Amino acid sequence: RSWQESAIPALILDVISKIGYEEPSPIQRQAIPIGLQYRDLIGVAETGSGKTAAFVIPMLVYISKLPPLSDENRHMGPYALILAPTRELAQQIEAETRKFAAPLGFTTVSIVGGRAMEEQAFNLREGAEIIIATPGRLKDVLDRHVLVMSQCTYIVMDEADRMVHLGFEADLNYILDACPTEFLKPEDGDVDMDNNNSKTRVTTLFSATMPPAVERLARKYLRRPATITI
Ligand code: AMP
Repeated sequence: RSWQESAIPALILDVISKIGYEEPSPIQRQAIPIGLQYRDLIGVAETGSGKTAAFVIPMLVYISKLPPLSDENRHMGPYALILAPTRELAQQIEAETRKFAAPLGFTTVSIVGGRAMEEQAFNLREGAEIIIATPGRLKDVLDRHVLVMSQCTYIVMDEADRMVHLGFEADLNYILDACPTEFLKPEDGDVDMDNNNSKTRVTTLFSATMPPAVERLARKYLRRPATITI
């Protein structure tokens, strides 16, 4: 029930220990093992539960098993995407994600409204393993071909109920349809082959409530998800 008893690789346990999270929170205890199996997940949880680390830790384990971003594949876009309803939440998520990603040498870029498109395009030039975005702005950026999602096979929708409430359902569909469905297999091949997700990308959805539009998204984009409620 401690970090050490989880299947998290030592490299990432080191980072967690340096950050100072002594014990996993309840949602982390439940969600991380599912994420480490590359299984789709519906998490019914509120902010403040530690859900950012719950989805970022397995995401980083996955990214650490992929070939490092290089001149060969930088232009193919990020390996992972986190979608959030508002700029403020995206910034909070980015701050939390960076705590884990930076020591591992991974970069995050946020694509949110209210900042110049040019600046965000510039930040994208060097490439980033993880993009954190609000749906409206990300759709614009994809529309303008400033960014592609050709190797983005790990997607998190955070606060999905708020995203649909803000009118982002169509944008979410557009963005998820722009990402490949085939899974980029990690190097160690440690994938449960009985699990339908072994051949498809990982898609995770967090929501405090499950209104019909969120159910619709889950049915359309998640494959045999595990569900956890905190
Ligand atoms: P979140 O629900 O992801 O917004 O996280 C809420 C707060 O809890 C953040 O400030 C995190 O830094 C902190 N936090 C997350 N997981 C842990 C943990 N296992 N131990 C201590 N603090 C944590």
